[in-house]
Amino acid sequence: VLVIACPCALGLATPTAIMVGTGKGAQHGILIKGGEALEMAHKIQTVILDKTGTITQGKPHVTDVIGKEQLDGGGGVVGGVDAGGADGVDARALSEIIGYAAGIERGSEHPLGFSIVQYAINNEIPLKPIDSFEAIVGKGVQGISAGRRVLVGNSMLMDAFKIELSAESVACAQRFSFQGKTPIYLALDDELSGIIAVADVVKPTSRTAIQKLHDLKINVAMITGDNERTAKAIAQLVGIDNVIAEVLPQDKAARVKSYQEEGQRVAMVGDGINDAPALAQSDVGIAIGSGTDVALESADIVLMHSDLMDVATAIKLSKATIRNVKQNLFWAFGYNVAGIPIACGLLYLFGGPLLSPLFAAAAMSLSSVSVVSNALRLRRFKAYD
Ligand code: ADP
Ligand code: MG
Repeated sequence: VLVIACPCALGLATPTAIMVGTGKGAQHGILIKGGEALEMAHKIQTVILDKTGTITQGKPHVTDVIGKEQLDGGGGVVGGVDAGGADGVDARALSEIIGYAAGIERGSEHPLGFSIVQYAINNEIPLKPIDSFEAIVGKGVQGISAGRRVLVGNSMLMDAFKIELSAESVACAQRFSFQGKTPIYLALDDELSGIIAVADVVKPTSRTAIQKLHDLKINVAMITGDNERTAKAIAQLVGIDNVIAEVLPQDKAARVKSYQEEGQRVAMVGDGINDAPALAQSDVGIAIGSGTDVALESADIVLMHSDLMDVATAIKLSKATIRNVKQNLFWAFGYNVAGIPIACGLLYLFGGPLLSPLFAAAAMSLSSVSVVSNALRLRRFKAYD
């Protein structure tokens, strides 16, 4: 009885499967920090995706620059004029405003800021010097440049500094938003001086990955600090109908929490500094490998390939692992449930044999071997591609 009751297989059932599952994840570039995340991932009901850098590539570039004259000139401007390619006077005026915007954005660590600086450098537009600089989270930047007060950011920033936005400029910004571009307002000396449109490319696999998550019966939502129309345009491109836009960085975690309070198990996927609190708050935080250090640190799972397909694969892997754990426990219990009564002499009572310790030892080893072999079957797990 003692020999057969030895609970080796029971002890092996869970850790072996988790170990093989974690290893399999690593093989696919999915780094899982501990068994808990792997166990939790199969219960996920809602996946919240950050927009910039998670659904999109996070390498935005300037597509249009609209100057003050064009805004004042009424709705005649469609699509905008590229500063490099525009004719005479316009080109100079546009270079001037880009010089201020890029000058100030040099101090920014935001990808939108980089894109404006990059645009100025590519078009050989001289950057204005910075006298003072301040980043305003979730809104933009402000500062003094060559003696002028410069504001670069979204409509919330313009509101905060009481900059008047003409009907034409709002219409122009809306037009960019509908195209999935982010409109950035530029104000010089408290007067609106231009609009810069910045676009970010959606990662090639985002759409299929979101389809896969829907197939797994998981709700998918997008969360972003960007304006609602731009967010919706991108969401439509990738097939998301649940959009939470214009969220300040400090509120992202609160949004995750409100889903959890509705009884949802939530996975947050993000890459930025502003996603870190939400990653920590969620049941499973998933960081994009190319993201910031804080995001990687706060997450339970890191996707080395920065590919959303791996979110679906991680959940599938978790399901496969948990199924495997259950099979293992079934076998481990099964051997003991059948073996112990026989060892106690149940069959002997009815004229059958007693269990020799030799056979008991063999059966016990066999149960461990079967559990380990079953766990190793996980190595045949196939990722989505
Ligand atoms: P995201 O979720 O897109 O990473 P953020 O909270 O970082 O959002 O930014 C929200 C919005 O604030 C941006 O979409 C942009 O309109 C504005 N913004 C933030 N930083 C800057 C900046 N350096 N230059 C211009 N606009 C900015
Ligand atoms: Mg981001």
